[in-house]
Amino acid sequence: MSLQTSASPAQYESEAAFLEGVEQFVQDYVLPSTRAWEADRLPDDVFRRCAEVGLMGMTVPREHGGNEVSCVAYCEACRLVAQGDPALSMNLAAINALCLGHLVKLTTPEQREKYLGPAVRAEIELAWGLTEPDAGSDARRVQTWATPIQGREGYYHLNGQKMFITNGGRADLIIMIARTSEKELSAFLMETDQPGFQLGPRIPTIGVQASWTSQFELKDAVAWHTPCTFEEAISFLGRGRLGIAAMALGIAEKAHELAVAYSMQRQQFKRRLCDMQSVQNFIADSEMEIEAARLLVRKGAEMFDRGEDVTKAASMAKLYASETSNRVTNRAIQIHGGRGMTFEHLVEKLWRDAKLTEIGEGCSEIQRMVIAKQVCK
Ligand SMILES: Cc1cc2nc3c(=O)[nH]c(=O)nc-3n(C[C@H](O)[C@H](O)[C@H](O)COP(=O)(O)OP(=O)(O)OC[C@H]3O[C@@H](n4cnc5c(N)ncnc54)[C@H](O)[C@@H]3O)c2cc1C
Repeated sequence: MSLQTSASPAQYESEAAFLEGVEQFVQDYVLPSTRAWEADRLPDDVFRRCAEVGLMGMTVPREHGGNEVSCVAYCEACRLVAQGDPALSMNLAAINALCLGHLVKLTTPEQREKYLGPAVRAEIELAWGLTEPDAGSDARRVQTWATPIQGREGYYHLNGQKMFITNGGRADLIIMIARTSEKELSAFLMETDQPGFQLGPRIPTIGVQASWTSQFELKDAVAWHTPCTFEEAISFLGRGRLGIAAMALGIAEKAHELAVAYSMQRQQFKRRLCDMQSVQNFIADSEMEIEAARLLVRKGAEMFDRGEDVTKAASMAKLYASETSNRVTNRAIQIHGGRGMTFEHLVEKLWRDAKLTEIGEGCSEIQRMVIAKQVCK
């Protein structure tokens, strides 16, 4: 698929060059490492290496040292990285859309000065902390309380618990959503190198295992207020969901590519699998659904680039791409037969990784709720 329709020729060329670099990075480094990363975790230098190819500052203006690209190019990058390693794609989507998005738009000049450059260069790592044991889909239930610290203007003590926070065990700085009154929530910058931040055991997950899915307690943890409303703080989920949709698309594309190749070389009943009608049905359905998902992601990203409201478009892209990804990876295992159940073939890993895309940044049921509300308003 060609890159951009609304970009200037110069922007088009620089984004095309960026994506060529990402593709090479995925082929040379990400894909060959994916099994090893899953057995352990993303390596310590992974984000520095991502920064070298421009993957760390995709939402950050050049004046702050970023590589600000269109949303179309950001989605393309998430898609390409997911073809190599979905866990890395999920981390890049969360860091770029949610964390860096917040640092760029909702911080004071002083806060940007302190954190933005180091984050883009991956000298510090980031995470985004909304979910809690009792606040998942119902994000407004957040019970982490923020209390002003007397004599330190702009600083608060945070007390509460967070869970399922991507990269939370490695992050130097977490954008934390917390309650400032019974009715109001806001966001805070919290450095993790302090006694009030008490990291719990890493949460093992069936998919995206290389990612450090974390849980932690906050006991009078000191945090710097970024003056914003709850709605502003979660507004980054629009581009975030498009990134997860692109991740789902990349997983589906990779699984489909592997399944098609396998079906063309495996013979049973003296014919190739791809010559059997049931397998052809699998292939045709996957091909069509992937194409439809691609168009929805592309449409949402283009709308974002034109400055339009993507609430419905991002939810539709994420919902359709994530469910497609789960169907396609399931079919890919079926086409591989018994071998699909083994750890020898990547399709089993893609099937496990795909599940996250139906849950993270809002489960499918919440996406349906968002879409219906937009239709019926
Ligand atoms: C690997 C991973 C990484 C994550 N990374 C982050 C992160 O970086 N930062 C962060 O803040 N969070 C993160 N999350 C949390 C994620 O966003 C939540 O898990 C998700 O929003 C669902 O919340 P929950 O798990 O509490 O499920 P619940 O809210 O308890 O929902 C459970 C199920 O109930 C159903 N349900 C819930 N509400 C409704 C409804 N209104 N209508 C119909 N059905 C409903 C759905 O089927 C849903 O799947 C991550 C999660 C995972 C697994």
